[in-house]
Amino acid sequence: MKRRDLIKYLSVAPIAGAAIGTGVPQALAGTVATTAKRDVIKELGLRTFINAAGTYTTMTASLMHDEVVDTIAESAKHFVMINEVQDKVGEKIAAICHAESAMVTAGCWSALVLGTAGVLTGTDQKKISALPNVSKLEKNEVIVQKSHMVGYVHALMNTGIIPVVVETAEELEKAITNKTAMMYFLNHETDAGKILHKEFVAIAKKHKIPTLIDIAADIPPVENLWKYSDLGFDLVCISGGKGIRGPQSAGMLIGRKDLIAAARLNGPPNGGNIGRGQKVNKEEILGMYVALDKYVNQDHDAEWKMWEARVAVIENAVKKVDGVNVKVSVPPIANHTPKITISWDPSKLKISSKDLRKNLQDGSPSIEVMIEPNAINLTVFMLKNGEDKIVAKRVQEELAKAAVS
Ligand SMILES: *Cc1c(COP(=O)(O)O)cnc(C)c1O
Repeated sequence: MKRRDLIKYLSVAPIAGAAIGTGVPQALAGTVATTAKRDVIKELGLRTFINAAGTYTTMTASLMHDEVVDTIAESAKHFVMINEVQDKVGEKIAAICHAESAMVTAGCWSALVLGTAGVLTGTDQKKISALPNVSKLEKNEVIVQKSHMVGYVHALMNTGIIPVVVETAEELEKAITNKTAMMYFLNHETDAGKILHKEFVAIAKKHKIPTLIDIAADIPPVENLWKYSDLGFDLVCISGGKGIRGPQSAGMLIGRKDLIAAARLNGPPNGGNIGRGQKVNKEEILGMYVALDKYVNQDHDAEWKMWEARVAVIENAVKKVDGVNVKVSVPPIANHTPKITISWDPSKLKISSKDLRKNLQDGSPSIEVMIEPNAINLTVFMLKNGEDKIVAKRVQEELAKAAVS
C-alpha cells in the first residue's frame, strides 16, 4: 500500500487508531476484526434485483446458501493440495450420484469439454498435448441427435471433435464407425429427439462407445443426480450454480473412473492441455460439495410446497386486474419448478411485455422477469423469503397502471 493510500485508509478505518502505535494498522496485520463491512456492490453502483426470472447465467444464476459461503470463506484461509481436494470431493460426489468417480469442473460447460477430452485422449500424454488437433486420433467423431445439435455442442467442439448428426436409431447404427469416439445426449431436448435414453445407451453399449449426457439445469428433481448414471451413461455433466445453488462457476463431471482420471489430466492443475484455463479454486470445489450435500439432504417436498405458496400469492394478486390471465405450468425437464405465465387482453391493458419488464426493472426494488411477445414469465425458486409479496404487488401495480380507462 502506498503512503498516500495508507493515509486515506487510516482516515476511514474505524479501528486504525488502536493499532497505530505498532506502525501497522490492525487490518493490514491480518487480524481484521471490527472493520466496517465494505459493500462493494453499493460502492460500484451495481444494480441488485429480485430474481423472479430463474437461474440465468447473465443474472448470476442462483444465490449460495450461507453454509456454502462460509465454506468458501473458511477454506480460503488455508493452503491445501488441489489434487487432494479434487480426490476427496470427487469421492463424495460420486457416492451421492451413484457413480464410480467425479470431479468439480468450471461449470457444466467445462465438464462437457473435459469429459470429451478425456474420452479422446485417455491417459496418453501425447494425445492430451495434441488437442484440439484430432487429426492423428483414430476416433475423433461424436454422434449427436439432430434436435440435440444446439449451442452447447460447441463445448465438445473445443476439443476438436467433429459432430456427426443423426435423427433415427437406424441412422445412429449406420453412423457408428471406427471413427466414433463418443455419443452425446442433451437431456432437455429428450422429447424433441427420436432416440430416448434407454435405446441410446443400449446402442452405445452394443458398440462399446462411451456416452455423455448434459443435464446442466435439470436438477431439481433431486433424483436426476443419479438417474442417468443408473441408466448407464458413462459421463454426466451438471451445473453447480443453478438449482443446486453451488458456486456459479462450478459444475460436476460424474462417471466412469478411467474417464474421470483422463478428464483430470486434460485440466488444471496440469498444463500443456486444452483445459488449463478452466480452473476451479479449492474454495469453490469445497463449496460445490457442501452445496450438493445440503441439497440432497433438504426436504424437497417442503420446498415444493413453499414454491406453490409463493405462486399463489403472485397469482391471486395479479388476477385482480381485469383482463389479466395467469397460467401455471412446470417444465418437465430443465428448470423443473413452477413457472407463472402472465398474459393480458390487449384491448383492456395497453402495455407491451418489453415495457412491463422495463418498468419492473426500473422500479424499487428492481425485479427481473422473462418475457414473450404478449406475456411475462416468472419463477419463484430464486426468490428470497418475502419477495413473493413484493413481486405480486409490483406486477399488479404495473398491470393496473396499463388499464385502458
Ligand atoms: C447452463 C447450461 C450449460 C452450461 O453450464 P454452466 O454451468 O453455465 O457452464 C450447459 N448445458 C446446458 C443444457 C445448460 O443449460
